[in-house]
Amino acid sequence: MGPQKSAEVSRITEDGDMMGGDVSDDLIIASGERKVAIVGGGLVGALNACYLARRGVEVHVYEYRGDIRQMEHVPGRSINLALSHRGRSALARVGLEDLVIQQHGIPMYGRMIHATDGRKKVIPYGKAGQCIYSVGRRYLNETMLSEAETHPNVHLHFNHKLLHSDLKTGHMVFESNGQEVQADADLILGCDGAYSAVRRQMMKAPRFNYSQTYIPHGYMELCIPPTATGQFAMEPNYLHIWPRGEFMMIALPNQDRTWTVTLFMPFAVFDRITTPDELLEFFRENYRDAIPLIGEEKLIKDFFSNRASPLVSVKCSPYHSPKALIMGDAAHAMVPFYGQGMNAGFEDCLLLDDLLTKHDMDLERVLPEYTEVRNPDAEAICDLAMYNYVEMRHLVNSRAFLMRKALDSFLHTFFPNSWTPLYSMVSFTRVRYHQAIAHKERQDKIVFGGVMTLAAALAAGVAYLAQRGDLWRSATEVVNEQARLALSRLGL
Ligand SMILES: Cc1cc2nc3c(=O)[nH]c(=O)nc-3n(C[C@H](O)[C@H](O)[C@H](O)COP(=O)(O)OP(=O)(O)OC[C@H]3O[C@@H](n4cnc5c(N)ncnc54)[C@H](O)[C@@H]3O)c2cc1C
Repeated sequence: MGPQKSAEVSRITEDGDMMGGDVSDDLIIASGERKVAIVGGGLVGALNACYLARRGVEVHVYEYRGDIRQMEHVPGRSINLALSHRGRSALARVGLEDLVIQQHGIPMYGRMIHATDGRKKVIPYGKAGQCIYSVGRRYLNETMLSEAETHPNVHLHFNHKLLHSDLKTGHMVFESNGQEVQADADLILGCDGAYSAVRRQMMKAPRFNYSQTYIPHGYMELCIPPTATGQFAMEPNYLHIWPRGEFMMIALPNQDRTWTVTLFMPFAVFDRITTPDELLEFFRENYRDAIPLIGEEKLIKDFFSNRASPLVSVKCSPYHSPKALIMGDAAHAMVPFYGQGMNAGFEDCLLLDDLLTKHDMDLERVLPEYTEVRNPDAEAICDLAMYNYVEMRHLVNSRAFLMRKALDSFLHTFFPNSWTPLYSMVSFTRVRYHQAIAHKERQDKIVFGGVMTLAAALAAGVAYLAQRGDLWRSATEVVNEQARLALSRLGL
């Protein structure tokens, strides 16, 4: 996208209302009338449309599904999501953060852990007042689509499924209502999710690295309705977790005072539950306190009318080809246990926006740098998400884990600039993901060193006391021992 001037572009620049935000006039002029195709109008595609709209380029969003704003029921993944700092920052740049947070976000200040005996305890996410937000996927998606559509240079094409693409020429073939539709673009942004068709095309190029991992667990969504008086059935400002080692259940609050409950278990366990009695027995054993909240009848109905969905983690590189870039889940689908998939995808949009500014929209420089900068971070958050897969099911019940959490919070309070717990770095800052891991490894070494020093000091103290208590030992021996120690400390 080299610099280009046209009458059309000048008019747009004078209008002002097309741009807004902090995009300079130069960029609008440089962007000219170039065309960007965004494949996928989900969370990342819709946000990307908002970003690019403000640059004055012609944006076409091609979405496989119909317009979700017209649908009664939207099929698909998780009903609500945890939105944290990275996602909020990305929404803020297009002026949507306040709308989403103030009007539709439910703050969650920590994890509320449910033990098998029904006892509950809270593990805060960060410092007092720090929280993540539960937001509805559909609401978020609709808000971003509507915002994008306020820009006359954005065109939304629903019911368009990408079939083929040529990532060197920018040519695309879609299937729409049984017809084949052809289109061309100067840049194709593949925001088409974990099973991306754009990525599939990239895989045909030489030296494209790709790996995917399905974990043995699947997930199924259930629902806790409001109480008879229309209230939340549990404390609303927490992410509730029932960790049970091999499997777990979580619940996030919704604005209508329902809870979306997600059951994560190995497919083998899902498959073993084949009758209502077996289901109730399983719940009585593992999630007894949740049965009256969901209701026996509803539990049976929802469980047997649903099917468990798989969870995949994808790593690949590079993210670009001459005229295309993959972003969001298309580039780095991850298991959902760090609540970062969407947040990372939104941060992708921030990075692309920064690089378009830095390089004056010169795609030959933007695209390779995007891959170079983003790849180590995307792979790092995929790894962290996989690690949290164990932490959420198991470690939150472990004493060592809880002690380490307490130590981290203590040190963070006294050394806020030099000691930040990993979870806080990931969820409450924009420290690059791979740097957050490196930082945590340094902290682990310090904690390990501290524990070893403490253990050595304790051992020395015990030995010293034993020595003093040895009535049979002569005073000379004690003096000799001490002298030997002193000499060895001096290295003599
Ligand atoms: C159970 C679960 C819970 C989660 N919880 C969280 C959470 O709490 N916090 C968080 O940050 N993330 C969470 N995630 C991750 C989050 O859902 C994803 O990271 C996010 O949806 C990625 O957005 P995306 O736009 O890249 O992909 P998607 O949301 O999958 O959107 C892709 C879009 O592309 C369209 N499409 C696909 N193929 C084509 C095609 N050939 N042509 C045209 N269009 C196409 C699809 O219809 C879809 O609209 C969770 C995921 C799961 C499964």
